[in-house]
Amino acid sequence: MNQPDSRVHRINRLGGLGVDCDAAGLRLAGVALLHKRGHAFVPRPADEIELLLKAAYPADKAPFLSLSLASIADALNAGNLAKAAMTAMFLKLSELDADGAARIARVDDVLAKYDGQPRAQDGRFADGKMGAAAHHDRPPAQSAKPSSGPHQTSQQTLTHVATAADFATRKTPADAPGAIQFSPTLQGQFDVSWSRSFPGGRSKEQGGTIVTDRQGNLSVQNIGGVAADRKTFTPDYTMKDPAKFTPIGVFHTHPYDRSEGGYTGIAIDGGDAGGLIDSPAKFCVVQSGEKQFMFMNTSVTPQRVNWDALHMEGQRDSDAFGAKGNNFADSSAKAAIEIAAKYGLAYYEGHHDHFTRVYQK
Ligand SMILES: [Zn+2]
Repeated sequence: MNQPDSRVHRINRLGGLGVDCDAAGLRLAGVALLHKRGHAFVPRPADEIELLLKAAYPADKAPFLSLSLASIADALNAGNLAKAAMTAMFLKLSELDADGAARIARVDDVLAKYDGQPRAQDGRFADGKMGAAAHHDRPPAQSAKPSSGPHQTSQQTLTHVATAADFATRKTPADAPGAIQFSPTLQGQFDVSWSRSFPGGRSKEQGGTIVTDRQGNLSVQNIGGVAADRKTFTPDYTMKDPAKFTPIGVFHTHPYDRSEGGYTGIAIDGGDAGGLIDSPAKFCVVQSGEKQFMFMNTSVTPQRVNWDALHMEGQRDSDAFGAKGNNFADSSAKAAIEIAAKYGLAYYEGHHDHFTRVYQK
């Protein structure tokens, strides 16, 4: 499956979306798995590799290969192409399908724009499983401070990719779209934000503002927002180029590090609803591990709310479901439905950029 002596063979015999290794490095579907530091190859950080492979392969099929990457880099640095290619073959990375190749390319693109963003000090995700719950709290206040985050504008032309029109205010939650599909670029941004949510192994919410251009194409601005901490993300709605872009949505992560229980799948909450209602955004996306959640405003959503009251209401609902024996993730999702019902929000749950409306009334 490898063509170690042929630098032109980026495309392997299987059709071009598999692994290839030559003097220029090691790639999967054209995406570099090694970086160059000076003249030497080094494996890309483990969290980036994990993110790329998760994007490339179906859930639970992503291989683990950081040790092998180091030996391939060593072999290339020693000029031993044959050994590098042989080791690459043993990675057993199967050829990607077109969707997988598109996803890994998008994630690679987002990662390239993420230089300087916080990352786990040890280059790995926090992945604890058990422990005590922490709570998402404090208001996502608005602010006028421009941020220096990367400016993401690339867009997809896949069919059914969400545009601003999908978020036009509907009469009721039942009139909202049944499904929303974000572009791989936006999903890559959500995934990267999640991977950056554990700097030094500690939770720190990551997020950004989703904007629309005049044609309705969605992109991301103001990564990192105005401020963020363990349980707070404060979006920045100041547009970089207000003549071209309007804020339409916001996204952030719900991280729980090992010391907090390592929970994932923790839903969008009352505080998020309050922040959304009091903002120029029409929808709010939350990424928590592989799971995603979204609230979307409708005409029956109040114009203003008391953030503290809504935040506490959401927590009370979640605690009540917990007291009935639901785990933290299930309690949070059930509480999100309660909040959606009371405040006229459409509620969605998603996975891998595809969101389905859950709350039907
Ligand atoms: Zn939140």
